[in-house]
Amino acid sequence: MSDMVDQGLKAAAKVLADARDVTLFGHLNPDADAFGSAVGLGLALRDRGATVRVSFGSPNEVPESLRHLDSAGLYVPASEVPAVPETLVVLDSGSIDRLGPLADRVANATGQVIVIDHHVSNTRFGTLNVVDDRSEATAALVLRLLDELGAPLTEPVARALYAGLLTDTSSFRRATPATHQAAARLLAAGVDAQAVARPLMDTHSFGWLRMLATVLDRAELDPTAARGLGLVSAVVLARDAAGLRPEDVESVINIVRSTREAEVAAVLKQAGPDEWTGSLRAVGRLDVSAAAVALGGGGHRLAAGFTTHGTAAEVMARLRAALNAAPLIP
Ligand code: 5GP
Ligand code: MN
Repeated sequence: MSDMVDQGLKAAAKVLADARDVTLFGHLNPDADAFGSAVGLGLALRDRGATVRVSFGSPNEVPESLRHLDSAGLYVPASEVPAVPETLVVLDSGSIDRLGPLADRVANATGQVIVIDHHVSNTRFGTLNVVDDRSEATAALVLRLLDELGAPLTEPVARALYAGLLTDTSSFRRATPATHQAAARLLAAGVDAQAVARPLMDTHSFGWLRMLATVLDRAELDPTAARGLGLVSAVVLARDAAGLRPEDVESVINIVRSTREAEVAAVLKQAGPDEWTGSLRAVGRLDVSAAAVALGGGGHRLAAGFTTHGTAAEVMARLRAALNAAPLIP
């Protein structure tokens, strides 16, 4: 298995060593692992002389909390991505629908489509797939790829990858010794850990406090839900989030999930009049990715998400049913 990943990384390095024009995608509404992985690899390829652009299907700008990662301005809006790209690298995206309006570029690419990801549910939609579900972050796979390429670890490259490691391991709470070693290399390359972490997870506007007060006031705890393991849930209405950034809303799950009485935490975020994006987290006993798949999404066993339609009450009812059918983790 790890041999297959090593072989995949070698093959990907071989393709990228000769690539002249590389387009890199993260998933829709990118997080630090998706965007940091794309920027880190993109910067390294640009340093080798390739023409490089980084994009994602939506939103139409880099989320504010991620802007400090793109020090060289590699980002281009989805509308400016060539209709027929040459070499394509897709990062941190388990399936082609995670690319949204950019999904057609996978079929259109004239060169290889390299998929680099750590989602267990990855559908291997590339011509070359490097999928390692034991990797804690896609950024860790990119670091191994850069080693294969013999690319120097500059501070901007290291900063972008560090951001992915930091957020996907929940601030290294879930990091293995190998991931700590990777992080140590990135810090040695000059990364300022505080300066990376602060905009990513420690900075919000005052309005965020008001939104939290409203949303958490309505939060519910049901100890009988999720196969009796307990569910804590909260709903963020569009009006609660008015004037706030997407990342302000994404942070709610990290507060809700600290509830001791619940194995599973869920946050429903209103994306349209009857459209909801859900975030699911488990402590370690229930596989919430199965529940997310049942609602049309996916993810990891302990962190998953979905987008679906209906009223909030309807979606919660479907979610409860899916959580009662979700497998226990052995
Ligand atoms: P989050 O709650 O942070 O948005 O997502 C948690 C995890 O679930 C991430 O690994 C993310 O990639 C995955 N995820 C979130 N939404 C979706 C979705 O709609 N489809 C799939 N396949 N995965 C998702
Ligand atoms: Mn990731």
